[in-house]
Amino acid sequence: MHKAKNEKILVIVAHADDEAIGCGGTLIRHNDNGDEIRIIYMTDGVSARAEGASTEVNIAGQNRLSAQQQACHQLNVSKYYNFDFPDNRMDQISLIDITQVIEPIITEFQPSVIYTHHGGDLNVDHRIVHQAVLTACRPQPNSWVKKILSFEVNSSTEWASTSMSSAFLPNYFVEISEYQQEKQQLLEKYQEEMKPYPHTRSIEAINYLNKVRGSSVGVESAEAFMLIRAIH
Ligand SMILES: [Zn+2]
Repeated sequence: MHKAKNEKILVIVAHADDEAIGCGGTLIRHNDNGDEIRIIYMTDGVSARAEGASTEVNIAGQNRLSAQQQACHQLNVSKYYNFDFPDNRMDQISLIDITQVIEPIITEFQPSVIYTHHGGDLNVDHRIVHQAVLTACRPQPNSWVKKILSFEVNSSTEWASTSMSSAFLPNYFVEISEYQQEKQQLLEKYQEEMKPYPHTRSIEAINYLNKVRGSSVGVESAEAFMLIRAIH
């Protein structure tokens, strides 16, 4: 089978599990293709949950970090970065401080494709990460970044209202029909973040969403994206 030239893929997410939900199947496919993957996690993902209960936060944080490490191992991620911006409070940080941690990684890694959050998500961290990524990727002469795609995350993208932000209208699809089983294994790493069906943040609901996205373009299963920018 023809394999495309190896690409460098950078994923920039607010929380550990966003990458698995939003583009896990696509990343499995990238890895299968021999592409190099790196992931930036912007928050610790737990600090907003158990205010005042630092022991609980630590345990939850360690569990989530361990899940993240297992997910990165499955995806054959060559390097990941963990920042500790405050969970669900990234709006308290200046955008420039967030952009400034992303920029040097892009300069060093020189990715050609970037995946990140949809800018209209209900979750404030997702919206801010989206903004910071676009700011860090301001088009410059000889920029390495050729494609920026935003993905949807169950229980954030579809929970937003068009009265406050722009809707997620996918125009770019990656077929993951042959990777559904592996995506499920990836999501299972984050079992503690998942809820029972019919909660939208359940493995079943994520699987159904991928099937709906797939059938909308005539394949069994797909992850859907909005193409922010492509340069060829
Ligand atoms: Zn998230």
